[in-house]
Amino acid sequence: MIIKAKNNITELELKNLKEYFESKGFQLADASGDSVKVFGILGDTSILSESDIYNIPGVASVTRIQVPYKKASKEFHPEKTIIDVNGIKIGGDNFTVIAGPCSVESKDQIISIAKDVKNSGAQILRGGAYKPRTSPYSFQGLELDGLKLLKEARKEVGLPIITEIMSEDLIPIFERDVDIIQVGARNMQNFHLLKALGKTTKPILLKRGLSATIEEWLMAAEYIMASGNDKVILCERGIRTFERYTRNTLDISAVLAIKELSHLPVFIDPSHSGGKWSMVEGLSQAALAVGADGIIVEVHNDPEHALSDGAQSLKPKRFDNMMEQLRKIAPIVGKNMQ
Ligand code: PEP
Ligand code: MN
Repeated sequence: MIIKAKNNITELELKNLKEYFESKGFQLADASGDSVKVFGILGDTSILSESDIYNIPGVASVTRIQVPYKKASKEFHPEKTIIDVNGIKIGGDNFTVIAGPCSVESKDQIISIAKDVKNSGAQILRGGAYKPRTSPYSFQGLELDGLKLLKEARKEVGLPIITEIMSEDLIPIFERDVDIIQVGARNMQNFHLLKALGKTTKPILLKRGLSATIEEWLMAAEYIMASGNDKVILCERGIRTFERYTRNTLDISAVLAIKELSHLPVFIDPSHSGGKWSMVEGLSQAALAVGADGIIVEVHNDPEHALSDGAQSLKPKRFDNMMEQLRKIAPIVGKNMQ
């Protein structure tokens, strides 16, 4: 339920309004913008009577939210959310490029790629330390050593870092060491993990689950937000369909759906969706054109020998060419790109 307060509401009326809901055991979330005073009422609001609320002094309007997610909904928060990562603004009119290898493999590898992607205009460095692999016999990531190398790359090159979290016990380390915490597709409905991440202060990049509907994905974002962390970036990374030529099917319309339903920024992952390096540039251009807020792209200096996802990784030179093309398109579609 959304309560809009009158512009001339007094401090006392506001206090009484809050007390009315809190005394009934509801949580009040302030979603006010520059020009409007708006509150979301969280809890089972079916027991509340709209006419009773209209009678509270200072109330301008009462609207029931028709969707099961509340904090993630546009109704609750009409203004677009912009997330600040060390001064980099994610969302709004900005198109932000996150790039780096699928897995951190060695110091030379991560530092060399970090330098290259930074020179090409990437603003954030990715690199997996913990890898959720289909086979237990595949490379599982360098784990804490990988995270250490990623931090060294951040120090040397000066890009903020994002890496995937696997379990709740890693949260204190990730909260201290990482600039954005990635929740992978396979963990999108790990509700305990989502709740725990809701108690952190770091932005969370939440990938869409392999077979998750848009509503399930937004409900996963709601789990993080309901626990107190509003800094959620959604990421469409391709979904399971009958098609096997591509690794997954990029649901480009998901960006438009999220823009209709939510205020949260939404990214596209052109690497895991197509699963082929040859498709990354085209899918990235599509992401920019459709209005995504950014992309997360895999780049590797030696993809033929990469320990994971080499087939979908761009070489630095190709990444550089792609960035040049994207920078030409950005102003045409009204986006700012570094
Ligand atoms: C990744 O980013 O390397 C990854 C494993 O992605 P996803 O969770 O989308 O499969
Ligand atoms: Mn990968």
